[in-house]
Amino acid sequence: LNQAEERRTYKRILVDHIVESVISVEVPLEQRINKEKLGELLASSLQQHGLHLPFDYNVRKANWDMVFGTCETLTGDVYSRQLYPSDVLSEPYMLGVSFPKKQSYLYKAMGTTIVMSLVLMVVVLVVFFGTLTAMFRQKKLSQMHADFANNMTHELKTPIATIMLASEMMMDETVPAEKKNLGQLAKMVKAQAAKLLALVEQSLRMTLAENSKIYLKWCTLDFHTLATQLIESFTLQINEKGGTIVTDFAAANACIEADELHFSNIISNLIDNALKYNDKAHPHIKIATRNKRDHLVIQVTDNGLGISRDAQKHIFEQFYRVPTGNLHNVKGFGLGLYYVKKIVEEQHGKIWVESKLHEGSCFTIVMRVANASG
Ligand code: ADP
Repeated sequence: LNQAEERRTYKRILVDHIVESVISVEVPLEQRINKEKLGELLASSLQQHGLHLPFDYNVRKANWDMVFGTCETLTGDVYSRQLYPSDVLSEPYMLGVSFPKKQSYLYKAMGTTIVMSLVLMVVVLVVFFGTLTAMFRQKKLSQMHADFANNMTHELKTPIATIMLASEMMMDETVPAEKKNLGQLAKMVKAQAAKLLALVEQSLRMTLAENSKIYLKWCTLDFHTLATQLIESFTLQINEKGGTIVTDFAAANACIEADELHFSNIISNLIDNALKYNDKAHPHIKIATRNKRDHLVIQVTDNGLGISRDAQKHIFEQFYRVPTGNLHNVKGFGLGLYYVKKIVEEQHGKIWVESKLHEGSCFTIVMRVANASG
């Protein structure tokens, strides 16, 4: 019995406690919350979470009436929580917090990340396109190398076949020696051998130009003298084609610092092209010079096929040949002008072309005169 009495007393105390705690809710909110402390508590709690930005807060009743706080209506995203959720009888109170500078804070916090990702994206794009263009250029170059090898093989075949034919004729015992015209045959062999030599030299020179630095033997040379000598060596070829070559040496000073052998190769190449890429009955070539300040301007002009605007951008590239310029009788490897430009630039000069299709072309070389001051 005693035990039952004891348990009853215990339960009564428990119920008293519960009722007391429920009734205590009726204490006004202002007394339950320290207004001054709430702001401080919120600030320190936010700082603990690493949020160092200004905030507004208020405590509202269920009907949205503000009880107290820093701002009547909170703007932007409002983070709300019910106060004393375990209260049963009292009306619910809400604590709301908002951050007026949230947007700019977020942008600031993410700013570096956004900028870094943009920079990274740009870098990736640049590298990607760089790799793509390098790949295409490489593919084009290897195609051109293959074409070059093909072309060279064809070029080599003709002189070899001619030499073999000539030597067979020389050895032919059925034809008496006096009827063989040995002198003519020997000349033929010599000419074809020279052609072979030129081809081998061209191939060697290009391998050299591609892989290693070209060593120039600098000297002071008078361009007018050099051009006159070159024109003489072309006379036969020009006469054969019914063409003419004229000079207009207007430069008072035609002395330049250059490598004589390479420079004469350059001019030979230009004259050779002016003749090769010419379908006129009377090819006309003009070599003109003039001084412009302390420079010598050299122009090789022809009345030949001309070069289209598109092709003009590429003619100085390795292995480039104008597709329509691939005439059956015009042999070449697309190396001539590449070599010309490379050597002109090695000698601190400039070269460019002006041309009109079917009317002719003009190649201009500008070199510094040898004894220019400075
Ligand atoms: P190739 O060995 O083919 O002659 P080049 O580098 O000398 O190589 O010339 C490249 C291309 O430029 C040629 O295929 C030709 O079509 C064009 N070309 C060069 N010179 C002239 C010119 N004087 N007139 C017209 N076309 C020219």
